Amino acid sequence: MVVEEDTLLLIRRLALRNAVEHDGKAMVDKVTAKVIAVRPDLRSSVKVLIPTISAVVDEVNRLSIEEQRSSLEAIEPKERADGEHAERREQYATTLPQLPDAVMGSVVTRFPPEPNGYPHIGHAKAAIIDEEYARMYKGRFILRFDDTNPVKERREYYDAIMDGLRWLNVKPDLIKNTSDDIELLYRYAERLIEVDGAYVCTCKPDTIKRNRASSIECACRSLSRDEHMERWHKMFSEYRANQAILRFKGDMRSSNTVMRDPTLFRIIEHEHPLKGYRYRVWPTYDFAASIEDSIDGVTHALRSKEYELRNELYYAILDRLGLRKPIVLEFSRLEFEGMPVSKRMITPLIEKGLVNGWDDPRLPTLAALRRRGIKPEAIREFVLSLGFTKADTKPPFELLEAINRKMIDADATRLFMVRLDDCARVKVNRLDGVYADGTTVKIRNHPTNDALGSRIIKVRDEFYLPLSDVINAIGKEIRLIDLYNIMIERLEPSEGGYARAYAIFTGYEVKDVKKVQWVSVDDAVQITVLVPTHLYVDGAYNPKSLEIIHAYAESYAGRIGVGSIVQFVRFGFCRVDADGIFIMSHK
Ligand SMILES: [Zn+2]
Repeated sequence: MVVEEDTLLLIRRLALRNAVEHDGKAMVDKVTAKVIAVRPDLRSSVKVLIPTISAVVDEVNRLSIEEQRSSLEAIEPKERADGEHAERREQYATTLPQLPDAVMGSVVTRFPPEPNGYPHIGHAKAAIIDEEYARMYKGRFILRFDDTNPVKERREYYDAIMDGLRWLNVKPDLIKNTSDDIELLYRYAERLIEVDGAYVCTCKPDTIKRNRASSIECACRSLSRDEHMERWHKMFSEYRANQAILRFKGDMRSSNTVMRDPTLFRIIEHEHPLKGYRYRVWPTYDFAASIEDSIDGVTHALRSKEYELRNELYYAILDRLGLRKPIVLEFSRLEFEGMPVSKRMITPLIEKGLVNGWDDPRLPTLAALRRRGIKPEAIREFVLSLGFTKADTKPPFELLEAINRKMIDADATRLFMVRLDDCARVKVNRLDGVYADGTTVKIRNHPTNDALGSRIIKVRDEFYLPLSDVINAIGKEIRLIDLYNIMIERLEPSEGGYARAYAIFTGYEVKDVKKVQWVSVDDAVQITVLVPTHLYVDGAYNPKSLEIIHAYAESYAGRIGVGSIVQFVRFGFCRVDADGIFIMSHK
């Protein structure tokens, strides 16, 4: 077998990278796994590729590590710029199964959101999987706004979706609106009427509903094609909303109720966010989605499982029109335990003021996740780690937190904070040496990341410490982190909101004693921390879903820019939301 030039180059690149990452020794099995991860289409021919991979690995392993490194740099200049992303892509590509009948270079996927709300984690899943598949097969990825229900759609939602995708680093190759194709869709409707595939029904909505439930065909169905064409034209002028609909001629006795002559077009007299009042006859999702997918060249139409029953209709419409049929694949909807994604659940909460808008940190919208300090890269990794499952997924939010924690840990400044509802003011006596008269200390901002630098804190002999730690430390030695050791001698009843305690200085050396964060009274600022938890518990709104904590923090906390992520020691990671206001990301 002749191995293609680009495959050979890929093998060489991955072998070099594997070698550089493992002290100069690439491994055949590791390189093979990587090759398949990047080019799943090669999976079936992997046996014949192995001799080539072995030969390349041998050749690479004979080079010195410096030679390997420079060879890698020579063929991998682009990857280096976007290295982390490419690496992750290769790592997670394996969790997505191959698409059926996919041809390298010709796969087209699309993400078709309706601009009727703010994008949430479920949208992120669809967009990321669609994009990943297009990249995996070196194909094209289309973002299509399915905007054919003007009552529900708003300009701000198009923008919010665009914004969310930009944040997620999802990059469509083409962006389009179904509303740009309305006149084309009219022509397909007319063609469908001509082939006796559709008819205009003027029955009352209640009658239509009843008939569909009991499999009864109405009189309109048996009128002639010409009469239907005439009625169709009247939908644009004479009929009012609810007086006429274009229906697909399906099967009123089908066990799949979707097929019982579903609506294809209806009259909606409402301003459209992009088209204004230009149209009054609007296609339904079923009609628009199947035609658009077909004419856009979509090869693999991925949609969530709740559309499963609609697949028969999707194919039937294309069949009657003689249009090319994409392969429809279903994946499970993604939402978090205790965090509803549906507008039906969220909108009333906003209206009643139970959550503060679409970016309330308790919500699974992209705006909320972003505000909470979740990284877009973490969302991508999370979505891909779940893979392409058809089973319902309601993973706990903690799964995303764990991925996010790994990503933010190395760059989050460590700071001290003491909650006001668990606070003691502690005076340290018998201080010797430099701290006796008040001075400053320099503390590293991160235990291992030097780039984060250090901060200077004014200290004298008084501190805010967690009351619970002080109570447990009476008569025992504790260490004020990065400072010195003390022993709590006594605690006095609270006065003015916090307890007073007295301690003695016991030395500088790091010991195996409890380590406690502290805020110097001379360097304290008050901050507020919002702590989001599950919005729903056992299906009911949780009134305690947002805890508001007031706390003392070191003054440095007040100088950190909005958007930064810090870790309050022994508390958790928080994102600076505004001056003095932090939102807890997670522990
Ligand atoms: Zn009828």
